[in-house]
Amino acid sequence: MREIRVRAHAKINLYLDVVGKREDGYHNLETIFHSIELHDDVIIREQATKDITVHCEHPGVPCDSRNLAYRAANLLGDTVGGIGGITVDIHKRIPVAAGLAGGSANAAAVLHGVNELFGLDFTQETLMQFGAQLGADIPFCLYGGAALGVGIGDQLTRLPALSDVPLLLLNPGIEISTATVFQKLNFSLTTREKRGIIIKAFLEKGDVVGIGENLYNLLEVPVFSQYPEIAALKTELSTQTGACGALMTGSGATVFAVMHNTDAARQSESHFKNRVSFCTTTVTSPVGVHVY
Ligand code: ATP
Repeated sequence: MREIRVRAHAKINLYLDVVGKREDGYHNLETIFHSIELHDDVIIREQATKDITVHCEHPGVPCDSRNLAYRAANLLGDTVGGIGGITVDIHKRIPVAAGLAGGSANAAAVLHGVNELFGLDFTQETLMQFGAQLGADIPFCLYGGAALGVGIGDQLTRLPALSDVPLLLLNPGIEISTATVFQKLNFSLTTREKRGIIIKAFLEKGDVVGIGENLYNLLEVPVFSQYPEIAALKTELSTQTGACGALMTGSGATVFAVMHNTDAARQSESHFKNRVSFCTTTVTSPVGVHVY
C-alpha cells in the first residue's frame, strides 16, 4: 500500500485589512500572508476499503466529515470519480482555532498529497481552486511563502519570502470563532490603513525591522475589545522582549513577535512559557506544504 508524508505549515498575517462587505455575507480582505516553520505532519496511506478515515488525537479536532482534511479528500474523490480508500493521520502541533490556519494547512496537505500519491496530475492552480471551495486560507496554504491575498484572501500574488526570520508565538488558550469576529466588526467606522503597501515594500527590500514596525491587523479591534487580556499580552510581547514588533494573526487569539534573533526569542519564550497555553519560537518558511 502506498503512502505519502506531507508537512502542513501554519501561516501568519503580517497585514490584514477588511476592504468591503460582499453580498454573500463574506468580507473582502487585503492581507499579506507568510508561511511559518511550525507545522503539522499529515500522513496519507492507501487502505483496502473505499472509506476516507481521519485520525487526530487533538480533542478539538473532529475526525468525521467536519474535518477539512476529510473534506479535501472527499472533494478530490468526487471530482475524479473515486480515489479508493485512504487514511489520513494528522499529528497536530499547530494550535487549533488560533488564527494560524491549522485546519486549512491540513486540507492543503491532503490536496497536494493525494494528487501526488495517485498521480492525478492536477496543477497547483486547480488544486488552489478546489481549496477555495472549502476555505479561504487553503489556496495560500498550498501556495506558501509570502503572498498578497485579496478577495476573501484566495486571490494571491507572490511576494518575496523572508528567510528564517525568528518569530515568537503566544496563544493564551482562547479559541476564537472567525465568523463571530467579522460579525462584531463595525465596518462603517473603520478607515483604511495603507500599511499593506509599506509592508510589501519592506518585504521586497528584506527589511525585517521595517516590517516589524508596520504590522497591522484590523481584526485586533473587535477581538481586543472582547478580550483585553490578548491586547495586554501583545503589548507585553512588543515592549518586554526587544522585538521589532508584534501582532495578532488572523482572527486570533495567537499573537506573534518578529524578533531580531533566535536567542532573544528563546529567552523571551522561557519568560512566557508558564503563563500561556502555547508558546514557541519558530521562523518564517518559504513553503506551505512539503513532502518529506
Ligand atoms: P479559522 O480562521 O477557520 O477559524 P483557524 O486557523 O483559526 O481557522 P483552525 O485550527 O483551522 O483555526 O480551526 C478552526 C476550526 O476548524 C476548529 O474549531 C476545528 O474544530 C475545525 N477543524 C476542522 N478540521 C480541522 C483540522 N484538520 N485541524 C484543525 N481544526 C479543524
